[in-house]
Amino acid sequence: DPSAAPATWIWRDGALVPWREATVHVTSVGHASVAAVFEGIKAYRAVDGDRLLVFRLDDHLDRLYESARLCRIVIPFSPDELRTAVLETLRANGYRDDTYVRPWAFPRGLVREQMVPAGVECEVVIDTWPFTSHLFRERACRAGVSTWTRPGDSQLPARVKAFSNYHNGRLAVMEARVNGHDWPVLLNDRGQVSEGAGACVALVRRGTVVTPSLTSALLAGITRSTALDLLRDLGVPVEEREVDRTELALADEVFFVGTGWEVLPVGTIDGLVVGDGGTGPVTARLERAYADTVRGVLPARPGWLTEVPR
Ligand code: PMP
Repeated sequence: DPSAAPATWIWRDGALVPWREATVHVTSVGHASVAAVFEGIKAYRAVDGDRLLVFRLDDHLDRLYESARLCRIVIPFSPDELRTAVLETLRANGYRDDTYVRPWAFPRGLVREQMVPAGVECEVVIDTWPFTSHLFRERACRAGVSTWTRPGDSQLPARVKAFSNYHNGRLAVMEARVNGHDWPVLLNDRGQVSEGAGACVALVRRGTVVTPSLTSALLAGITRSTALDLLRDLGVPVEEREVDRTELALADEVFFVGTGWEVLPVGTIDGLVVGDGGTGPVTARLERAYADTVRGVLPARPGWLTEVPR
């Protein structure tokens, strides 16, 4: 919940500092953002008490470094240091319930160039705030295929988790709302399905889950990869391939998967009812498996759950 009360402590450039004191000069806000990259991670309260479990922390940090590499900005901390920093920030703030973690890296100091030069050193901050899980609460959402398209990999690579990419998603979300939908589904520059504005998308047709391949101009979603693993565990066949927009309309089920949206069923696509308009059976099984995984009910795969030290 972005309107949640701010944390007490934020990690900034190597140390925990009071959240309210973590300011930058106003001139840093504009151009620095062009080169800034970030991550979105969730820590869930474990089923068996008040332990907090960070979900796929190392995978998210790996992606942060990949995004930085592709943007040619330098994070002056090792993955191990940032891993410790995330856990330390969660511990220092005393969170006991579900908490969102937002690390990001942006060019340090005064940035006057729109074309932020390669190799620029970055500052890293790790912000945290409480969130309320949508799992088992959310009604199926209304989705619409957007007239805005995801830029191709050689235009504005969706594989990079950069703030700049969200201009495109934001335009699509605003259009979706004007048209009476909750969320957009974006096509890529080849006219095939890519992803949602803040989550990957998948469909179910005759028992098989189909999701656009990683070369369809989308973020390599960690929840997408989790979902594919969990579905295989459940014995559900999965396909990663190019997906036509009409396949969405003919699907038995459609759902979004992302850290923020978790598993979000889609009830209508452009006003066409998907299945019975609610949460389909495969989506429901995945939602259950996902909830049980992040809260430590199911045995976790190595590296998936990191307990926050007390
Ligand atoms: N696509 C976009 C554009 C996103 O912002 C997100 C959220 N990070 C995702 C997909 C889903 O990625 P993940 O499952 O790693 O959170």
